[in-house]
Amino acid sequence: MFPITTIDATVLQKCSECDAEKNLCICLSCNLLFCDHIEEDHIFSHFISTQHAYGMNLKEKKIFNLSLDKYDNDFIQKNNCTQLVEYPFDDFISNMITDYNDPLITDNGSERIVEKEKLMNIDLIKNLEDLRNENKSLSTTIDGLTQEKEKQDKQLNEIHQNLVNERATNKQLEKRFNKNLEDLGNENKYLSTTIDGLTQEKEKQDKQLNEIQQNLVNERATNKQLEK
Ligand SMILES: [Zn+2]
Ligand SMILES: [Zn+2]
Repeated sequence: MFPITTIDATVLQKCSECDAEKNLCICLSCNLLFCDHIEEDHIFSHFISTQHAYGMNLKEKKIFNLSLDKYDNDFIQKNNCTQLVEYPFDDFISNMITDYNDPLITDNGSERIVEKEKLMNIDLIKNLEDLRNENKSLSTTIDGLTQEKEKQDKQLNEIHQNLVNERATNKQLEKRFNKNLEDLGNENKYLSTTIDGLTQEKEKQDKQLNEIQQNLVNERATNKQLEK
């Protein structure tokens, strides 16, 4: 299959060898342009050096076989080509399609080409429609995700605010707790001192009590002897 060559009609086309601008032909194998003059025949010298046998006259759009040195009217049909050269920005395009209807080239070829192009267009439109739908569905998904994210951001902010409040409360509680602990420590110390004092007092009293009891026992014994 020969590739489709695009001829930019907005740019002046020239022969690859001599810069000639008239009677240009395109080599269908490598898509280079060459002149086709009687004196300078660069499409032919290109065939001699490369064995690229097929060329097309840009003006008449006729395909020729250089090895046989004659036009090949069945070329498109034989080679299963849809289009060999396209001319954007130029009336040449419509001329090209008209050429396919030329009974000299092919009868069924043009119908097949048009059918094929129609099918390609239907495919393209379908792909476009699929992409649009996919786009819509993605947009909806993005909207949903954005809303969800906003909601989560809000929740996160609330949680953060709660945490800050809680920390402040904790600090106050800690302060109060430390103060209470200190108070209790002081009270404890005071109580310990008091207990120590009371214990000493008690020991003293116990001693005095013992002495009094001893005195009482002694006195009782003396009394009993005196009764006798
Ligand atoms: Zn030339
Ligand atoms: Zn070539």
